[in-house]
Amino acid sequence: MGNREMVRFLKAKVGLSPEIERAFLACPRELFVPEHLKERAYEDVPLPIGYGQTISQPSTVAIMTMLLDPKPGNRVLEVGTGSGWQAAILSKLVRPGTVYSVERIPELAEFARRNLKAVGSENVRVFVGDGSRGLPEHAPFDRIIVTAASPEIPEPLLDQLAPDGRMVLPVGRDVQKMTVVEKTGKGVKISEAGEFVFVPLIGAHGF
Ligand code: SAM
Repeated sequence: MGNREMVRFLKAKVGLSPEIERAFLACPRELFVPEHLKERAYEDVPLPIGYGQTISQPSTVAIMTMLLDPKPGNRVLEVGTGSGWQAAILSKLVRPGTVYSVERIPELAEFARRNLKAVGSENVRVFVGDGSRGLPEHAPFDRIIVTAASPEIPEPLLDQLAPDGRMVLPVGRDVQKMTVVEKTGKGVKISEAGEFVFVPLIGAHGF
């Protein structure tokens, strides 16, 4: 399977919007996996990227991107850069906006920076640190996405979400509920969208 076939599969399984379909086509997953796994890049499974971490399953990335609903011009915070694939897809959707992505493992942040360069995602800034604290110096964010399992909704992330902002994150211990948090004039609305399994968010507001 190649990128086009994977996108066709995702359209059938998840139902991508035309914008999200274009973003996936612009960011071939084989550019975000280690050399020895390139042949398996388009399988709908998470793959190891070293340091005990994974690049998420394509259908999970598709679902989270649809739930996040990023718009051109948005400022997005991603917690858990990993390979940079999710950040790359978001960067295509928010141009001329910016993606701020935080990774706790410096070697993976470097891996992601190289991969992002390969797809021309110049509007992504990768930071090394504990993303469970957010990035207060760059807040507020129109969209926040957490790509690691969180024990609860991290308070700093809720604080750094803009009015009318939206956050998507997997919440729970062994199995996580995909959680959508919307800030509205009337308060915070929380909804859930299925169960997933992620590597843990490790940090002050994580595990
Ligand atoms: N979004 C990634 C991609 O597209 O490849 C997949 C992310 S992987 C499932 C989760 C990542 O979150 C790992 O790289 C892990 O090191 C990172 N992580 C875990 N806790 C973190 C924290 N507190 N701050 C930043 N990154 C964290």
